[in-house]
Amino acid sequence: MKSIAVFCGSSIGFNSVYKADAIKVGCYFAQHNIGLVYGGGKIGMMGALADALLEKKGHVTGVIPGLLRHEEVEHGNVSKMIVTKTMSKRKVKISKMVDGYIALAGGFGTLDELFEALTLGQLGIENKPVGILNTNGFFDTTLKQLDFMVTEGFLKQTNRDMLQVSDNIEDLMAKMHAYTAPKLSKIVNTVASK
Ligand code: AMP
Repeated sequence: MKSIAVFCGSSIGFNSVYKADAIKVGCYFAQHNIGLVYGGGKIGMMGALADALLEKKGHVTGVIPGLLRHEEVEHGNVSKMIVTKTMSKRKVKISKMVDGYIALAGGFGTLDELFEALTLGQLGIENKPVGILNTNGFFDTTLKQLDFMVTEGFLKQTNRDMLQVSDNIEDLMAKMHAYTAPKLSKIVNTVASK
């Protein structure tokens, strides 16, 4: 994988383990020559991740919508910054640039981006691996919710299984490399190709 989108918090969290893992991911990407594509912020988890990569001379592309471009938020030092008109255009731009997606701890924005990536996979619009780095069990309750959706008949087990999970980046990347997309039903295929 040459390029991966990482979704993560514009906040840093109360526990220092989250920042530590953002830095680990940045170092891993730099060491393995994986370009980072992310939200373009200098704040929170986003800033910690981008700074770790830049410090190790890695490649960082920010994709930021014009409305979020304040001095307090926008990273001024990334390898490349792409400015989009809207949040939704930002998502499309990011999806065209990357070979996979990883979510780290975050809030609404992170979950929105994660579930959009999973939905693209579920519909067969994309076949890219989607993973979460489950630092400190941060996503345990999210995963429990997904399992409940399966139990209650709102999510197929095969689609639930698209999501790769690990609490360390080496293992998560190994799972993402080994990922093969589920076969789609005919109905979904028809919708996706329209
Ligand atoms: P949240 O998880 O709600 O903190 O939102 C973080 C995610 O949403 C990131 O992955 C970004 O892509 C996007 N995002 C939210 N706020 C900002 C911001 N101020 N600047 C850039 N991107 C942001």
